[in-house]
Amino acid sequence: MIRTVAVIGAGVAGPAAVLSLAAAGLKVRWFAPPPAPTHDPVGETLSPAANPMLAELGLADAITAAGHRPSHTTLSSWGSPQLLDRNAILHLEGPGLVLDRRRFEADLRRAAEKVAERVVDARLAEAHPAQGAWHLSAATGETLDADALIDASGRGTAIARRHGERNRADRLMAVHAFLDQRDADVEPTPAVLIEAVETGWWYAALRPDGSLSVAYFTDPDLLVETPTRDVGVWKALIDGTRYVGRWIDDAGFDPDTAPTLSSAGTTWLAPPAGRVEGAPWMAVGDSAAAFDPLSSHGMTTALWAGARAGPVLSAALDGDDDALDAYARSVSDGVQAFLDQRRRMYAMERRFAGAPFWRRRHNVTPPDLAERAQDK
Ligand SMILES: Cc1cc2nc3c(=O)[nH]c(=O)nc-3n(C[C@H](O)[C@H](O)[C@H](O)COP(=O)(O)OP(=O)(O)OC[C@H]3O[C@@H](n4cnc5c(N)ncnc54)[C@H](O)[C@@H]3O)c2cc1C
Repeated sequence: MIRTVAVIGAGVAGPAAVLSLAAAGLKVRWFAPPPAPTHDPVGETLSPAANPMLAELGLADAITAAGHRPSHTTLSSWGSPQLLDRNAILHLEGPGLVLDRRRFEADLRRAAEKVAERVVDARLAEAHPAQGAWHLSAATGETLDADALIDASGRGTAIARRHGERNRADRLMAVHAFLDQRDADVEPTPAVLIEAVETGWWYAALRPDGSLSVAYFTDPDLLVETPTRDVGVWKALIDGTRYVGRWIDDAGFDPDTAPTLSSAGTTWLAPPAGRVEGAPWMAVGDSAAAFDPLSSHGMTTALWAGARAGPVLSAALDGDDDALDAYARSVSDGVQAFLDQRRRMYAMERRFAGAPFWRRRHNVTPPDLAERAQDK
């Protein structure tokens, strides 16, 4: 009998899971609400560590398509007021790609749609485990059943948060905007720029379409005024930088673009997989573990976890739970390795050691890292 698995979410981890499950001979029922016309996801730096995962999923073409650009230059002012070429800080395996992320996600979606048994164009509203199966209903009222469930719904962890405990290491948030170029005569440098400031750090990347992705990462209590309501506040924050502001000015980008806010903290689910009422489930991607974007590894981890879905759930559906346990251990080991890496990265910046943002990241003891999320 062919077993069925429901997948929730059509970001990066969701399509990866669909492809992996189909390759393992499982039938996939995919809750994949189409992206809004305005959908323009932030986070475009793809680590080269993603390449083997893309190849394993048959998606190698997704990064050779026109529209993405190699990320040869990463400049950073981190630990020093000078702007240095420091690829090694962020890309331990060398340079990666700056993606046209909308196109990348659309390519993943197209590949996954071809192999899913059924694609539900709506959000999942409810999921009830009973007698070894999942009973699911979409926001449109449509219902269906599945033998196992994958939660790839991103940081919101729509379903799995009821079955695992959410932990967080910090409350980092991103203030983010895409800036268009006002002055078309200037050829902007194709670079990624990282700049540490007293209250957090900045990221700016020239996107393949010529716009500039700009994000300021800080803690919510350090944001005195809300920049989403007042573009003047956003421009004042930019003016407080030494290099990001200069890049925006020199290349003629338009800072009069109201930014959006999003969570960017390090959070994880424990355990990220298991059984409930006898029915197997797995969280993959940000739903299992979401990392401080300083790592630039979120999409890579999402692809890795999605690619585990097929082998892990086909074993679980054969009654062998060792693969579920091994997956849970790998996620947990990955979180610990990331927390060590995060500590080392923040420790490289000592200029603002007395400031709350940096103090919180320098003086971390293991119990602080396991602070329970208040929003479970
Ligand atoms: C500011 C910022 C910058 C970043 N920069 C980078 C970067 O440069 N490089 C990098 O690799 N990573 C970066 N990341 C991280 C990266 O974006 C994520 O790790 C990655 O998107 C995770 O993919 P995902 O599929 O798990 O989740 P998502 O991409 O969030 O996808 C989840 C999907 O599930 C859908 N969904 C939610 N609930 C439901 C439901 N009930 N039913 C159906 N669907 C649902 C959502 O609509 C969404 O489409 C950044 C993150 C942030 C916040």
